Amino acid sequence: MGQIISIANQKGGVGKTTTVINLGYALAEMGKKVLIVDSDPQGNATSGISFLKNQKPNLYSALIEEIPVENVIYPLRDGKNKVREKLYIIPSNIDLAGAEVELVSVLFRELKLKEILDKVKEDFDILLIDSPPSLGLLTVNALVASDFVLIPLQCEYYALEGISQLLKTINLIKKNLNQNLEILGVLLTMYSRTTLSQQVVEEATKFFKDKVFKTVIPRNVRLSEAPSYSQAIFEYAPDSSGAEAYREFAKEVMERVFQEKGLR
Ligand code: ADP
Ligand code: MG
Repeated sequence: MGQIISIANQKGGVGKTTTVINLGYALAEMGKKVLIVDSDPQGNATSGISFLKNQKPNLYSALIEEIPVENVIYPLRDGKNKVREKLYIIPSNIDLAGAEVELVSVLFRELKLKEILDKVKEDFDILLIDSPPSLGLLTVNALVASDFVLIPLQCEYYALEGISQLLKTINLIKKNLNQNLEILGVLLTMYSRTTLSQQVVEEATKFFKDKVFKTVIPRNVRLSEAPSYSQAIFEYAPDSSGAEAYREFAKEVMERVFQEKGLR
């Protein structure tokens, strides 16, 4: 049974894309069949793990041009053109910015991505949707299509700023468009051994309680370098602290998915 997880936070630079890429790769390493859906017009998930930035058809083609979803799913290949086992992507680029506008006049515009992904959901174990830094129509589409939402929080000043608005959006969607939607958890990213980081962990734990994942992603320069080689951290620096953390995190994600599904 495929499970769809949106990675969402309307703040930019909190680690959404880094998490999508490396969680996706780690889950595939664990033997899960994974589809990364790049729903951000910046296309960072696409360029960060593939050479498909200008590939067409892409997500825009499926959303707006009615191209069948099967035609926009690509197996991921590494720099040597070798297929990365069990890892697939629906790529995006700046075209997708048009979709945010063009969808406005489409009937059932909030359900478009769900309609598309439901057709292939059962072909995968996990589908990860990267979303843009806004609460616009693309993020709403991602949340409507999802079983779970995963919220990355950067261990920085104002980490929780805007969170109440995100939670309000999630609750509205749960109430009106997708009863299924649950918060899978909150992931603390870019943690460093500073008082500030520690304060953010405490604040987040006070607010989200056991929704906070035990795994914390450290600030690790390797994680920020890997995308320029279109590599996941496991290819670029497999022994780094970042790789270690995302490997642990992937296990925790699978445990939670099983747990949450069992409760339903
Ligand atoms: P978002 O998708 O939320 O905008 P990104 O994943 O693109 O955030 O991360 C923002 C920036 O921070 C990127 O340059 C990324 O490489 C870097 N980054 C993300 N996570 C880490 C980390 N744990 N350690 C160091 N740099 C990171
Ligand atoms: Mg991003």
